Amino acid sequence: MKRRIKKLLKLYSFEIALFFLISTGLFLLVVDVDLKENIRHLLTVTYSFTKEFLKIILYNLTGGFKIIKLSNLLGFLILLICFYLTFKRWRDRLIKSNNVLKTCEKCNSKLNRINKTNLLKLLGFFMRLKIRLYECDKCHKKYKTCKKK
Ligand SMILES: [Zn+2]
Repeated sequence: MKRRIKKLLKLYSFEIALFFLISTGLFLLVVDVDLKENIRHLLTVTYSFTKEFLKIILYNLTGGFKIIKLSNLLGFLILLICFYLTFKRWRDRLIKSNNVLKTCEKCNSKLNRINKTNLLKLLGFFMRLKIRLYECDKCHKKYKTCKKK
């Protein structure tokens, strides 16, 4: 059991570190001591986090960029980096998991290329990947391949 946890921790150490980074970024964004209005909003627990997040962004955008503080900027920057890293990691994983098969793993039948689902099309577009979808003749198991564009 301990081993498994250790293995999981090792495997997801990047994601865990990312989570802490994201938390730090969000914290820096949300905690804004000088904005009394925002503090009042923060104190009311009923406000959902997303509302608050959007409000701060809107406030900064409408109030001119002078209002953006270093902590906010830093928070934004960290979040941006995190999103980029997550995106890159996900893309790399997709490419790595790419298995070029000609026959089905289960029943060894021939694979036929089929039309992509809309979700895969969207994913391919955003990830800048060539995604192809194959289906087994017999058992209808689906396989996908991802390649760099
Ligand atoms: Zn099959």
